Amino acid sequence: MVETNVNINRNNSEVRVRFAPSPTGDLHVGGVRTALFNYLYARHTGGKFLLRIEDTDRKRSTPEAVKVILDGLAWMGLEPDEEPVFQSARFDRHIEAANKLLEDGHAYRCFCTQEEIEQRRELAGDKIYMYDRHCLNLTQEEIERKLVTGQEFAVRLRIPQGDIVFNDLVHGEISVSGGEIDDFILLRRNGTPTYMLAVVVDDLDMRITHIIRGDDHLSNTPKQILIYRALGKQILEFAHVPLILGPDRKRLSKRHGATSIIEYRDFGYLQETMINFLGLLGWSPGDDRDIISRQELLDLFDIKGIQSKSAVFDESRARWLNGQYLGRSEFDDVAAELDKFAREASESGSLLEMPDKQQIKAAWNLLRTRVHFLKDLFDEYRYMFRDPDVFDPKGVRKHFMRDSVAERLASLADDFASLEPLTSDTAEQVIRTRAEEWKLSAGKLIHPVRLACSGATGGAGLFETLEVLGKNSVVRRLKHAVELIHSETFDIS
Ligand code: GLU
Repeated sequence: MVETNVNINRNNSEVRVRFAPSPTGDLHVGGVRTALFNYLYARHTGGKFLLRIEDTDRKRSTPEAVKVILDGLAWMGLEPDEEPVFQSARFDRHIEAANKLLEDGHAYRCFCTQEEIEQRRELAGDKIYMYDRHCLNLTQEEIERKLVTGQEFAVRLRIPQGDIVFNDLVHGEISVSGGEIDDFILLRRNGTPTYMLAVVVDDLDMRITHIIRGDDHLSNTPKQILIYRALGKQILEFAHVPLILGPDRKRLSKRHGATSIIEYRDFGYLQETMINFLGLLGWSPGDDRDIISRQELLDLFDIKGIQSKSAVFDESRARWLNGQYLGRSEFDDVAAELDKFAREASESGSLLEMPDKQQIKAAWNLLRTRVHFLKDLFDEYRYMFRDPDVFDPKGVRKHFMRDSVAERLASLADDFASLEPLTSDTAEQVIRTRAEEWKLSAGKLIHPVRLACSGATGGAGLFETLEVLGKNSVVRRLKHAVELIHSETFDIS
């Protein structure tokens, strides 16, 4: 029998999709991308996005592991539209379905022990051993006798002849011969349901219409289709999303760096960045844009745009994107987070004291298009808040170790001290006037002043930087550099 899902008419039914993670203690960015695609599809079609926690592995499925998933989704703004469903709470329904399949003759009891199966596998010399249907051939009396003596049994699906054909919305038509599928287990000998059974029963009970999941599940789909059929149900729509690869084109894993969404959050990635980044990872609206908002994704998302080849995770792109979003952020949008990082930096001793809000705001406005992460402001641009104690060695060689630099910096310190007020304009005037007087290019003063005031050779415009630093800091830093140059105590190793 050939059955395809191409023509199922679902026009009248509301789209219901689900994200079905197994709580393993981590919420992988690949999982979050699957969740996002489901969420976007639900929102785009006016449907519902649901969450099912597949917590049947009781050892790994701790409350903490569940919390990691809920926190990660909440941080991304991907909350489900209904209460999460816990698979472990639904064993009765799974068992009920297995019993129905037994009654209807689509499944049968298998009393074979693991050892017996192993022996047969060895005898057959077969690596890809398929269950030999030993128990399918038991007579009713034999079955009764085993049941009466309390023998444990598993429940296996009886695989019908014929091809299983279905249309995957990403990969197109897929066809598998029933002969390639083993009479797989639905209920284990200890009475617990297998993933294969549980997932189908749950998707049916949750009235899911579309299964959008990683394509590592593509090979499970024909088996699940057989369960739908045996239960007399229409099969759902399937869209298998290609896996995410690392830059070496191997499946993205810890070897490639951070893979947990929480690590990205804690590193300082913004929610908008991750939505944009994961939204365009393996999906495209049909153009090659890099920047897309959550709203645009909601407006444009369709399953057709999911690419059938794997997407490569390029963290440098995420970093760049984060910078783009920060560059557009107003101080008030990020003030609370900046305050948190400033507090951390002052508590750890990286800053000598907690900067005041005005200082942080001025530094933010000056540097927001340069930082990639909020914490960069107190890290890479720490000099905005405390005098530099390290000076770029190349810069020192190039800009400090020259005749007359100390004298010039000393004069400039006096010039700046007399400015009332020191603004970027008045600071620029001082530098240009002195450059002319000393017959130098302005750069010959700008570079050493920058190095003296920041320890660095690059950054935002010098004059604006000086204004934000304020007169006292500028004068103090220039004088300190003069002393250092005279004492030749720079560590430029
Ligand atoms: N629990 C499965 C996983 O985490 C997903 C099952 C599914 O989406 O059907 O890989």
